[in-house]
Amino acid sequence: MNFDLTSEQEMVKRAVKDFADNEIMPGARERDRQEVFPWDITKHMAELGFLAPTLPEEYGGMGLDFVSEALVFEEIGRADSSVRTTLSVQVSLTELPILEFGTETQKRKYLPKLASGEWIGCFGLTETEAGSDAANQQTRAVKDGDEWVLNGHKIWISNGGIADLAIVFAQTNPELKHKGIAAFLVETDTPGFSTQDIHNKLGLRSSNTAELILEDVRVPAESLLGEVGQGFRIAMYALDQGRYGVASGCVGIIQGCIDASVKYAQEREAFGQPIAGFQLVQELIAEMVLDCEAARLLVYRAGHLKNKGVRNTRETSLAKWYASEAAVKAALNAIQVHGGYGYSDEYPVERYLRDAKVATLYEGTTQIQKLIIGRDATGIGAFV
Ligand SMILES: Cc1cc2nc3c(=O)[nH]c(=O)nc-3n(C[C@H](O)[C@H](O)[C@H](O)COP(=O)(O)OP(=O)(O)OC[C@H]3O[C@@H](n4cnc5c(N)ncnc54)[C@H](O)[C@@H]3O)c2cc1C
Repeated sequence: MNFDLTSEQEMVKRAVKDFADNEIMPGARERDRQEVFPWDITKHMAELGFLAPTLPEEYGGMGLDFVSEALVFEEIGRADSSVRTTLSVQVSLTELPILEFGTETQKRKYLPKLASGEWIGCFGLTETEAGSDAANQQTRAVKDGDEWVLNGHKIWISNGGIADLAIVFAQTNPELKHKGIAAFLVETDTPGFSTQDIHNKLGLRSSNTAELILEDVRVPAESLLGEVGQGFRIAMYALDQGRYGVASGCVGIIQGCIDASVKYAQEREAFGQPIAGFQLVQELIAEMVLDCEAARLLVYRAGHLKNKGVRNTRETSLAKWYASEAAVKAALNAIQVHGGYGYSDEYPVERYLRDAKVATLYEGTTQIQKLIIGRDATGIGAFV
């Protein structure tokens, strides 16, 4: 067992940390206030290769390993979870499923555009009646000659309003339930495809979230990703990737809470001494440190399995569950350390709380992660 990062991983971490500190962190509060999507940052991340850390170089990626990918998400998540969410969706929920299930033609057509940031991707699984119960897809796909006709409505889709390409999940035969679901690569300028942005979210305020509306959207047969009936499997594969990004980003939030709290506790004085010297303040910080280390190890373990190419649903789920709940707790502790000042956006910790909360909801709620782990432990599924 080796707990050291390789020299390449150290280099990636340093490069992303510099970028996060200098280019993402400074504007995070204002973007959050104004709900401004960071196009400049996204473009610059693309130039530096961050939009495709694990894609093979032949498709425009950096060809890095999955622990390196986690380091990218962690450092960016420490600076701004809105940016990390945009990135996670591009990498984990769009590029990697195309890499795994796409035809060579689909890979050559879409992956270089996504890697270079020329195109933004989104992942359209959730519907009003299909959140945790993702198999209950109401969006319909009907074959008509050489085309598929899609009709339906997706909600809460990150990048949805700015995407050029959407992976859309749809039911082809309701009698087959999850075995009838198919995934489609839908170019968002296709007639009948429209979006509606969702505003006033609790957190992730500078990331784009939208509804997707599909009205008689006709796509060619070659738009099918994988096979008919494989859609649910593709969605679950993508979520194994996406949850890893969420977990890594949450490690970043916890680290951010520690950094902000230590700095504040050393500077702020009460009763004639820095509050860092009070045992109860140290307890708040020590709890964050413990959770940060534990969450990071869970992430690296999942990344190690991904590098080996073996099934990692259990380990990824554990990492996502633990890191997301720990990030919420760390943000609450960090606000406590900051006293009344933690309750305003003068300091980043209230944003950390608002941004951390969604990680316990999206890509499978904490309850769903518990059911995955419970099923793995007992051999009995308790989803229905
Ligand atoms: C900001 C944001 C961005 C998102 N981005 C995307 C995206 O890019 N793509 C996408 O497809 N989706 C996205 N989502 C949707 C997200 O994945 C869903 O909201 C999430 O899966 C939960 O579904 P739901 O909201 O319908 O809640 P529900 O499924 O209705 O759950 C409500 C409550 O019931 C609990 N519950 C449900 N079923 C069970 C059960 N069997 N046992 C125990 N408890 C249960 C849940 O844990 C939860 O507490 C996003 C959501 C948000 C808020």
